[in-house]
Amino acid sequence: MVKTRGNSGQKGMVYLIGAGPGDIELLTLKAVKYLKEADVALIDDLVGDEIKDFIKKECKISEIIEVGKREGRHKKTQDEINQLLVKLAKEGKKVARVKGGDPFVFGRGGEEAEFLAKNGVSFVVVPGISSAIAAPAYAGIPLNHRRFSPAILILTGKERESEEGEKEKERINWEEIAKLDATIVILMGISNLERNVKKLLKGGKDPDTPVAIIENATSPKQRIVEGALLNIIEIAKREKVRAPAVIVIGDVVSLRGILKNFHLKWMRNAE
Ligand code: SAH
Repeated sequence: MVKTRGNSGQKGMVYLIGAGPGDIELLTLKAVKYLKEADVALIDDLVGDEIKDFIKKECKISEIIEVGKREGRHKKTQDEINQLLVKLAKEGKKVARVKGGDPFVFGRGGEEAEFLAKNGVSFVVVPGISSAIAAPAYAGIPLNHRRFSPAILILTGKERESEEGEKEKERINWEEIAKLDATIVILMGISNLERNVKKLLKGGKDPDTPVAIIENATSPKQRIVEGALLNIIEIAKREKVRAPAVIVIGDVVSLRGILKNFHLKWMRNAE
C-alpha cells in the first residue's frame, strides 16, 4: 500500500521516477515497483529505449504519453506537463512521471514537485542514477580520486532559457570556475562547448587538463571522445559529437588510460 502524504483519502498521485541514463539494468527496484503500480505514464526523451519497451510491455499502464520532442512530435511545454500531472492525479490516477537520470539533477523534477505541492497533489520521488555519475563510470573515469581534485562540480553548459527559447542573463561565471580545484562535469554542454572551454582557458585553467566527452552513455550507442582543454573543441567538431553527452574535465580523466582495458570488459556496453 502506497502511503499518501498530507492528503489522506486522495487516490491519485504522482511518482517522479528517475529511470537512469539508459541501461535498463540501472533502473532501481523502486522505479520498477512504482512503474508497475502506475495507471498512466509521462515519459521524457532521455529515457532509454529498453526502458520504454519495458514500460509498454511489462507494466499495466493504460496510457503512455511521450512528452519529448523527437520524431517530429510536438514537445509539451513545462507548464503543459505540470497541468497534465495535476489533472491526471486529480482524476484519481497513479501517474508515473518518468525522467532520464535523476529527476532532481537538471531534470526539472523540482519544478514539477513544487507545482504538485502547490496544487495539493501527493507525490513520491524515486531517485535515479544520474548520467553525471553513470557516464564517467561507464567510461572508466572515477569522478573522484585522492590523488586529484577534492571536489566534483556538476553544472549545465546551457544557461536558462525561457519556454520561447529566449536567453536569460548568464549566471555561471566560467572564469571563476576555472580557478576551482574540482573535477568539472557538464550536462547539456555540447552546443556551448566552444564558448565554455574558451572561458575556462581565459580563467586560467591548464590547457593540458584532460577532457572526455561521453555520448549516449550506458546505451549500446555509447561513444567516448578524449582530448585536452586545448584541443577538445576541434576534436568534438571532427568527431561530430552530439547530445546527449556528458563532458568531464579534470585530471581524473587520465585514469581512463589504465582502467579502460580492464573494467570495460565486464561492462554491458563494452567497447
Ligand atoms: N536528469 C538527467 C539530466 C537531464 S539534463 C540526469 O540526471 O542524467 C539532459 C542532459 O543530461 C543531456 O544534455 C546530457 O548532458 C545528459 N545526459 C542524460 N542522459 C545521458 C546519456 N545517456 N548519455 C550522455 N549524457 C546524458
